[in-house]
Amino acid sequence: MDKLPQPPLANVAERYSRQVRFPAIGAAGQARISASRVAVIGCGALGSAAVDLLARAGVGEIVIVDRDFVEISNLQRQVLFDEADAAAQIPKAVAAANAVGRINSQVKAQPLIADATSSNIEEILTGAQVVIDGTDNFETRYLINDACVKLGLPWVYGGVIGASGMAMAILPGETPCLRCIYPEGQAAGVLATCETAGVIGAIVSLVAAVQWAEAVKILIGDHQHLGRGLATFDLWTNDYLLATGFPRLADCPCCAQHRFDYLEARHTSQTTTLCGRNAVQVSPGHPLRLDLAELGRRLASAGAVSISPYLVRLGVDGHEITVFADGRAIVKGTADLGTARSLYARYVGV
Ligand SMILES: [Zn+2]
Repeated sequence: MDKLPQPPLANVAERYSRQVRFPAIGAAGQARISASRVAVIGCGALGSAAVDLLARAGVGEIVIVDRDFVEISNLQRQVLFDEADAAAQIPKAVAAANAVGRINSQVKAQPLIADATSSNIEEILTGAQVVIDGTDNFETRYLINDACVKLGLPWVYGGVIGASGMAMAILPGETPCLRCIYPEGQAAGVLATCETAGVIGAIVSLVAAVQWAEAVKILIGDHQHLGRGLATFDLWTNDYLLATGFPRLADCPCCAQHRFDYLEARHTSQTTTLCGRNAVQVSPGHPLRLDLAELGRRLASAGAVSISPYLVRLGVDGHEITVFADGRAIVKGTADLGTARSLYARYVGV
């Protein structure tokens, strides 16, 4: 989105007056916030709550990356979206950028409809001072971790499930990285539960608030107030904990050995089940730019086709295949990778 005309200075001062009066931020902190660029990877529940707070706080530029589109089942916890976004199947990155424009026209929002992958993550993060994790899977989190450790860029991990959640700021070279805290085997167990446990909106607000606060402390240089540990919360059992004292692993493949497995695509899969959705994402093996109108015409004989500027959707054989311009498809109605791959090959065929 293009930057809109700036309102008079007096309005700017009034707009952020309560935040500036908070002594830890002050006028100098506000100036740094307004001059900063933050990348939010994944704009579902945590991402949209974080973007909402970042936009209201006046972060200069927010890069919003998301691979999915808005659905009615998102609205219970994804605060930037509404019924009109779901009805029009607007990609979340675009819907979020539109919402930022309504909340704070001084903020430049840059939507990117894409999967964060080993081939684009470093470019996405260029110029950012901090990265916020809004993803729902550990493969992408490990990728963010690799890129941020390589670039020396702070990032804030966050995750929610059921009524519980966690958050942690990671300062590469200084604090433990994600692979120090969660070696790969442990993360697989976390992934398995999110299919069934559901999630409540309130824990999203809580974890995103922590992510926002840690990110802002980083932006304004207030490192002494960072949590430096894993904050965990359970809103149902009222267990709140900041677990500190995690060491940096002496043999961590990422932050000690600088072996960036995910960034070097050693672990990247081209077919991914989507958390809790009975859906699979299939990605092309190479960068693509599809002509969606032409694809829509081609698929019209196969089943019910709907088309928007951002996507083509085909309903066929009890499945729903949504294809984006970058060649990715989300196949709904199956959690089976092979079924999804064969449907992709049959109908998208690229
Ligand atoms: Zn590490």
